This record gives sequence, C-alpha cells and structure tokens, in this order.
Amino acid sequence: MTSLLKDELPSITTRYLEAVVADVVARSPGEQEFHQAVAEVAETLVPVLERNPAYREWKILDRMVEPERVIMFRVPWVDDRGEIHVNRGYRIEMSSAIGPFKGGLRFHPSVYLGLLMFLAFEQVFKNALTTLPMGGGKGGSDFDPKGRSDLEVMRFCQSYMTELQRHIGPFTDIPAGDIGVGSREIGYLFGHYKRIRNEFSGVLTGKEIEWGGSLIRPEATGYGTVYFAEEMLATRGETLDGMTCLVSGSGNVAQYTVEKLIALGAKPVSLSDSGGFVHDPDGIDDEKLHWVMELKNVRRGRIQEYVERFPRATFTPAATDGRNPLWAIPAHCAFPCATQNEISGPDAAALVANGVVLVAEGANMPTVPEGVDRFRAAGILYGPGKAANAGGVAVSGLEMSQDALRITWTRDEVDLRLRGIMASIHRTCRDTAEEYGVPGDYAVGANIAGFVKVADAMIDQGVV
Ligand code: NDP
Repeated sequence: MTSLLKDELPSITTRYLEAVVADVVARSPGEQEFHQAVAEVAETLVPVLERNPAYREWKILDRMVEPERVIMFRVPWVDDRGEIHVNRGYRIEMSSAIGPFKGGLRFHPSVYLGLLMFLAFEQVFKNALTTLPMGGGKGGSDFDPKGRSDLEVMRFCQSYMTELQRHIGPFTDIPAGDIGVGSREIGYLFGHYKRIRNEFSGVLTGKEIEWGGSLIRPEATGYGTVYFAEEMLATRGETLDGMTCLVSGSGNVAQYTVEKLIALGAKPVSLSDSGGFVHDPDGIDDEKLHWVMELKNVRRGRIQEYVERFPRATFTPAATDGRNPLWAIPAHCAFPCATQNEISGPDAAALVANGVVLVAEGANMPTVPEGVDRFRAAGILYGPGKAANAGGVAVSGLEMSQDALRITWTRDEVDLRLRGIMASIHRTCRDTAEEYGVPGDYAVGANIAGFVKVADAMIDQGVV
C-alpha cells in the first residue's frame, strides 16, 4: 500500500494510522468505498492524535472502523406476476457511543456491504457534528425500486421489515430514508413495524406529518446544504444572490437544494439522474421545479423529459469515460446531490478552471480524493458531505424529540432550529480547522470535531 499519510518521516501517529487503514483494507477486502472513507478521515487525524495520545492508547480509531454489529439477511418477495425474487438486506450498527444508532436506508442495485460500511462510518462523524445525541448506522438492500409498482415496493418493504424489526427500536436504532427510500417506502416500513410489534413509536424518521413526522424533514438535507453554503460564503463577505449554481441529482436532496437556492436569489441551472443531466441556461425557477417534483415524485419519470417540456434546455446522456460534463458548465457554485464519487479528479479540475468559488456536498462523499485535493489546492470553499448535508439527520433528531414529547413544532420553528444547527456545524468545523492549524479546511475541521466527540464518549464508557 502506498502511504496514505503525507509525512516524509513517519511518526508513531502516522504509523499507527497507516496500520489502521491497512488493517481495514485487509479485513474488508473489495470494499473500496469503505477504504476510501477511512483513509480520508485517517489522514486528517494526525494532529489530534499527536496532541492527545490517549486516543491511540485507547485504540479509538481501531474500534470506530469496526461496526458494533452487522446484520445481513435474506429478503424474499413476490412480484406482480407471481415470480419470486430474493434480495439481500443489511443494517450496519456502527457506533452507539453518543446515542442510539441512526442513519438512512438505501435501496439501490449498487448496494453491497462496503458501500454501507462507508456510509455508516461517515454517519458517525456527521451525527456527532449535529450536537444531537445520535450514534451512527446505515442499512438498505440491493433491491431496485425503479420500474416497480407500488404493490411490489410494499411487498418488498414488508419482507425487509419482517427481519429488520428484531434489531431496531426507538431507543436502539432508528433508520430513515436515503437513495431509493422516500416517504412511500418509509410508510410501508413503518406500517409493517407497527403491525408486528404492536406499537406506534418513533422507530423510523422521515414519516408523514399526519403520523409522527416532522415538518421540514423532507426539505432538511437540501435546505441545510444551502444554509451551510451561505455560512461558508459569509466568511468571504459574499452571498448566494445572483450566483449560478450547478446541482446534480433530481431526488430529494437535489429538489430542496434547488428550492432554497431559488429562494435566496441564486440561479440553479442543472439537474441529473443516472441517465444524464439537463442544463437550463435560463435557470430553474419555482414553476419548473414544481414540474420536476411531479415528474420525479409522482410519475417517477426520467430527467431527460425536462427538455421536452422546456425546450431551451439541453440533455446530455451520462458519460462512460469517468468524466461528468455537468461539472464543466461554467458556474459560481456546485452542489453535488446525487451519489458517491460523482466528481472525478478531472471534473474537479474543470470546476476549478471555470472559477467555481464553492462546492457544498449534498450527497455523501461525491468527490473522489483527488478532487478534494484539487479543491484544497485552489483554496475554494469546500463543504464536505458529512458537515454540509447533516441537516437531514439533524431534523430526523428533531423528529425523534417531537415523537418522544408527543408534540409538533411549526415549520418556522423547525426551520429556525435547522438554520441554527447548520450555523453551529459550520462554526465547529471552522474553529476546529483553525485550532489545528489548517484554517478554512472544513474537511479537516469536520473529521477532527466529530472524532473528538465520539472518542471522548468512548473513553468515558470503557472498552465496549
Ligand atoms: P433520491 O433517491 O431521492 O435521489 C437520488 C438521485 O441521485 C436521483 O436523481 C438518482 O437518479 C441519482 N443517482 C443515484 N444513484 C446514482 C448513480 N449511481 N449515478 C447517477 N445518479 C445517481 O436520494 P436522495 O436525494 O435522498 O440522496 C442523494 C444523496 O444525498 C445520496 O448520496 C444520499 O446518501 C445523500 N443524503 C441524503 C439524505 C436524505 O435526507 N435523503 C441525507 C444526507 C445525505 P436515478 O433516479 O436515475 O437513480
């Protein structure tokens, strides 16, 4: 393995961190995204472990990369034609150091253990940053809801929950949505849990408002990402007003990122799905966004249809050469909101060459490590997903509080709390980066601040 850590003369700390990463690679072979996520965190922890050797002596990182529990199970279900299918279900309970396991479920054909290990690992840091008492977890299945009828999705969700319900609960593990799991899926999962367990509890978040959900939860990840971007820009005396913005994805996070950008006077000009991207040089306004929401959330159509309805826009099919020409469109800001590793090194170079001043990640780990290095070298404002997109899980935490108290806060109350939490996450990342000698590096700030909070709790709780 080439050195992941950049010291020329390795100290005890760098050798220790390299050994942890090497161990992860050896013990979890083939789990490339998990290796990437751990290496990205490890290389930023040198100063904090140098300053506090107890974290090394207590083997904190060794324990953080090993899930407390991994559940894998068979999910058999029957399609509308009577054919039997078998998918694989997962739940990774990564860390309960600062609260019950918390994190989304992803239903997508690309789901496998390594993908969920990366997402669960990131979730631990993200949840720590929110200031709320939530541990980290992630789950899902390689089931593809695309093209399936509502009844097929329901039967799948019921079969998935039949097993998962043994392992979760409002004080143990509280799943939520992610790619392929929206309010429809949460409804079917919740209904089945309630039936089997004979309890109406806050075991899932992202519920509809009429049965235990929180206002602003659907909007929270997108809105929060934009609030984080606002905070970053404010450090340079700038605002989003008048900024041209690239947005990828067209699901939950992308839709509400666009909505908030429009509200703040910015001009979002793109959206995408796995088929390709649309570029609308006139800008996506509220009316166009409303049409996209109907297309994606009700008709479950493809983003390509946008150009039939709005012919001044263009559609570019997804590239297969590792580049995404979406990121070569000239703009001031970029909001990747689709999936992991969607900004390659050359894509990041194109963004920088076009003078982008800010990248705020609505998706989890959308930028490959080479791309992050390019953003750092260019000195642009770079908000990593584990900080910038933490608004979703933060409002999930607020949903849990409302469920426990049997009350409902108003839209404005929740939005105000979300804003406050995003401002606090921004402050924490900025101050921590400064404290450790890398001012402006939000990725280092997020990793160290999240790590310290979890590490201190782990030391308090002994070797468990
Ligand atoms: P959705 O399922 O609502 O939307 C996902 C979007 O990304 C769709 O447009 C989808 O296109 C596209 N996409 C998914 N996989 C790929 C792929 N392999 N290649 C190209 N496009 C792809 O998911 P969300 O909006 O909820 O999630 C988007 C990102 O945000 C994920 O990284 C998720 O982990 C992250 N996130 C989500 C949170 C939430 O609250 N929902 C919270 C924090 C982070 P298509 O329909 O063609 O698949």
